[in-house]
Amino acid sequence: MNHLASTFDPSDIQLSPSNLERIEDLNTRWRLLQVTVDTGKSNSGSNGLDEVDSKISVKEHLKQLTDAHTDFCLSQGSVERPFEQGISPNNVPYYINHQTQTTCWDHPKMTELYQSLADLNNVRFSAYRTAMKLRRLQKALCLDLLSMQTACEVFEQHTLKQNEQLLDISQLVACLTSLYQRLEQSHSHLVNVQLSVDMCLNWLLNVYDTGRTGKIRTLSFKTGIISLCKAHLEDKYRFLFRQVASATGFCDQRRLGLLLHDSIQIPRQLGEVASFGGSNIEPSVRSCFQFANNKPELEAAMFLDWMRLEPQSMVWLPVLHRVAAAETAKHQAKCNICKECPIIGFRYRSLKHFNYDICQSCFFSGRVAKGHKMQYPMVEYCTPTTSGEDVRDFAKVLKNKFRTKRYFAKHPRMGYLPVQTILEGDNMETWGSHTNTHTHTHIHTNTDKRHK
Ligand SMILES: [Zn+2]
Repeated sequence: MNHLASTFDPSDIQLSPSNLERIEDLNTRWRLLQVTVDTGKSNSGSNGLDEVDSKISVKEHLKQLTDAHTDFCLSQGSVERPFEQGISPNNVPYYINHQTQTTCWDHPKMTELYQSLADLNNVRFSAYRTAMKLRRLQKALCLDLLSMQTACEVFEQHTLKQNEQLLDISQLVACLTSLYQRLEQSHSHLVNVQLSVDMCLNWLLNVYDTGRTGKIRTLSFKTGIISLCKAHLEDKYRFLFRQVASATGFCDQRRLGLLLHDSIQIPRQLGEVASFGGSNIEPSVRSCFQFANNKPELEAAMFLDWMRLEPQSMVWLPVLHRVAAAETAKHQAKCNICKECPIIGFRYRSLKHFNYDICQSCFFSGRVAKGHKMQYPMVEYCTPTTSGEDVRDFAKVLKNKFRTKRYFAKHPRMGYLPVQTILEGDNMETWGSHTNTHTHTHIHTNTDKRHK
């Protein structure tokens, strides 16, 4: 382990005083560890008392080894040449590229990931676009493997109870390390603990600590991890609500504001906040309390009912869940545009024409077949249709058959609960209109602005 320090040849490389200090520190600790191991060996097996001593020293040894390992890894990082991980004075990791002689907050793999997200910018509808980006991020961070139970156990293990308390980098690293070690146990071939910890920390700091103060709120940490974990949507909502609710289960406007603020930072970091009503969460808080008849405090059931309407500021989360569900879906239908059959992914069925289906990639790129207008209503399926759904859609098409384009333009149905707000950028596309189940959504596309 310590051979790395000895590979530095002072005649080749001029080491800075701080690096020399680090090597000296490592060497000292290495010697200390060897002494501990030796004492442990000599103590063991002579008598009962010594065994107790040896247990303590083994425990102490383990602690020193773990500490040294953590520190060593942090300075070594999960990067390869020409990159090197550095640590800022407030303990935040950053990355040095020796080839270009530049430094950057982002891990080289994170930079790669962000670059790869650019190809999703041709997805025309912001909620899908954001959700697709988040899905890719979720997978890169291996959070799609993390159950809510495991996450909660780790939160408990690290006594993350005070949600307004700040966590520093070492606490975040410790918590993330436990989390990914757990994941490694169940998915050893998928999880690289060191890399995942670095990447996830990188992401959390990008979302919640853009100024790199080296601290984020416990609530923010939990919100980030839980939003992207593998759990049922409503379980996530319940968990998040509990974090801001009082012991009696009620939440006031200020506390709901905290939760929505921390949630909206997730799409904001991807540059997508404008579509979800901007970073001002007051209109969303107002919308929620109006929904609850302006009571001073809100209970979980009311919050859940409001979330089921998919408020504009939060719609990216249910859509992320549908994107995940659609990934493996195979529909016995043929795309009217590219002729793909069966359709894999999302399937869009016209509620204006019989047997008119569009595949995900055609729909996302905004292609329409001859005679079909963007204003015509469609229904989204992320899982294969049931016969009941087929019958219901058939009835709807019958009703819509003689309605005109003007009728649909006058009666747009939106897929989310709009929130009155001053927009920071372009308008949210009226991209859909969901019904009360989670497997499909009505789509109605009036305006379609491309993401810049
Ligand atoms: Zn197609």
